[in-house]
Amino acid sequence: MTMTIRHHLTDELIMAYSAGTLPEAVSLAVATHLSLCDECRAALQAHEAVGGSVLEGSDPVAVSDACLKGALALIRTAPAPDPVRPAPDPVLPAPLQDYVGGSLSDVAWRSAGMGVRQAVLKTEDSATARLLYIPAGMEMPDHGHRGMELTLVLQGAFRDAGGYFGRGDIEIAFEDTQHTPVAEGSVDCICLAVTDAPLKFSGLLPRLAQPFLKI
Ligand code: ZN
Ligand code: ZN
Repeated sequence: MTMTIRHHLTDELIMAYSAGTLPEAVSLAVATHLSLCDECRAALQAHEAVGGSVLEGSDPVAVSDACLKGALALIRTAPAPDPVRPAPDPVLPAPLQDYVGGSLSDVAWRSAGMGVRQAVLKTEDSATARLLYIPAGMEMPDHGHRGMELTLVLQGAFRDAGGYFGRGDIEIAFEDTQHTPVAEGSVDCICLAVTDAPLKFSGLLPRLAQPFLKI
């Protein structure tokens, strides 16, 4: 399937993903973009090839017998991968299907008002991953950020000062980003949004709703 992706991961995110240092929710957003984007997958592979050659070039370190036995025992007791994979979903890429436990119809949506729905995915607490369902044409409340926010489009599109974001595009917002995303086109927008700190809303109503929506 060919798809034009215009907004990609940063090198920093790709390297941190490869090193395994990202919070689970951020890692999920990166893995989901990688599953849709040949360009970033190639960048990850190039990065890992360089990392591998650095390892090969370094002097071997003697490992004790006990350490080796421990590692082998861990490998043997590791749980077998689940053989039952859910059927592919046209909207949710495989990394997300694992979190939803199936397809788009299995998402446990909760109303966030004005036709907007959200489903918070179960990850470690250090960052929050949620699926957002935004009716076509809907304007999201103007907001700023206390940390990083990754927004990955899965269906439909949105536009803000950062440009146009369609399926596969990822917007990376930081503390200096203030934006008002609008769901564009005739198709309702579904995206994965990951935040590592609460948002800063300028309007009173969203601020009042914020504790209930955990956003
Ligand atoms: Zn990409
Ligand atoms: Zn934002």
